[in-house]
Amino acid sequence: VHMAALALPFGQDAVGRYSRAHEQAEQRRLSLRQRLRGACDRGETDLHFQPKVDLASGRLVGAEALVRWASPVHGDVSPGEFIPLAEASGDIVAIGAWVLETGLSHLADWRRRGQVEDDFCLALNVAPQQLCEPDFARQVLARLELHDLAPRSLEVEVTETGLMADPEGALGQLERLAAAGVGIAIDDFGTGHSSLAYLKRLPVTTLKVDRSFLAGMVERERDRRLVESIVAMAHGLGCRVVAEGIESLHQADLLTRLGCELGQGYWYARPMAEDDFLAWAQARPLSMLPAG
Ligand code: C2E
Ligand code: MG
Ligand code: MG
Ligand code: MG
Repeated sequence: VHMAALALPFGQDAVGRYSRAHEQAEQRRLSLRQRLRGACDRGETDLHFQPKVDLASGRLVGAEALVRWASPVHGDVSPGEFIPLAEASGDIVAIGAWVLETGLSHLADWRRRGQVEDDFCLALNVAPQQLCEPDFARQVLARLELHDLAPRSLEVEVTETGLMADPEGALGQLERLAAAGVGIAIDDFGTGHSSLAYLKRLPVTTLKVDRSFLAGMVERERDRRLVESIVAMAHGLGCRVVAEGIESLHQADLLTRLGCELGQGYWYARPMAEDDFLAWAQARPLSMLPAG
């Protein structure tokens, strides 16, 4: 950026304000990055759970675990802010290990207490660096066994961009997980940079349509057609489709008619702390059908 040229009409004050704001943002990133190290060990992180439902019947079929961080210094920091920092610093590997262990131990508890159905599936987000670890699949399978959980009760969510960090390495890890029965979901589908040729080789079981595609589908025919095509393509690949970010009954209804199987979004429930999630699951009427 040509600072001098940009600054000319505004004078020195604007340059000063710009660089101060820039500096403050940089300082926050630096501080968050330092505070993040060891946050899981200090008990500052927690998992929230967002229900996934079968669109046609309204039945609860699973949940996505989403990490939360309450920093004693910075307060609640959103994963949208701290996950990229953890990926840059490498701390994501430790956070990912904590998410895996904590998620599976919650799931094992729920199963033992009969709080979820036998076919309930927990989804965890997996970062590129985790997929690059040669030991990743073996560790996941070992953890499942330790908790006496069937591999099909777990699904890993990976993004196209995450896969492209090390396409061959990721393929190897995902093949081992899929062979054991773990579900493989492509998250934020349609927003990343993977090729269809590569996707075809992956043992994918689920495509998660990014919520940016859902936003306009009620008003715009073109958006509807696009979602319809993604659903058709997913089915062509033998995958189920999860629509993420459903915020209205109208969207839920349309998606059901387009053949989308599963949904997740604020219309059903926000991500919730464990107790609230279990209460929601308990209270949920099985007959909550979308109008159609
Ligand atoms: P994601 O995996 O695509 O998760 C979905 C995000 O969309 C979540 O944001 C969720 O709260 C939000 N969401 C769900 N339904 C709706 C809706 O109806 N409307 C809107 N506007 N938003 C909705 P969250 O929890 O802030 O997480 C953001 C991202 O951070 C996640 O995107 C994921 O990429 C990452 N993340 C979260 N937890 C983990 C984790 O344990 N490990 C890794 N590697 N990444 C994680
Ligand atoms: Mg996800
Ligand atoms: Mg997503
Ligand atoms: Mg808790």
